[in-house]
Amino acid sequence: MKQIIDLSSLDEIERSLYLDDTWCENCSEADLGIGRPELYIENNRKFISGSCNVCGELCTSEIITKNIT
Ligand SMILES: [Zn+2]
Repeated sequence: MKQIIDLSSLDEIERSLYLDDTWCENCSEADLGIGRPELYIENNRKFISGSCNVCGELCTSEIITKNIT
C-alpha cells in the first residue's frame, strides 16, 4: 500500500533535503534534482519520485533516514 505524503506539509529544510537527495538511473548521476516531486511511503520505506531535471525521465529514490541519536 502506498501512502502519499503531502510535500507542502513539510518544512522547507526537510523538503529540500528530500528533493536534493535524488538518483537518476538514466543519467547515472545523483543530486540532479527532480520536478513534480511525489513523496510516499511503501512497505515502511520512504521514496521520492519525480521527473529528472536533466533528462526528464521519471526517477525514484529511496530515502534512507539516518538515525542520529
Ligand atoms: Zn536524468
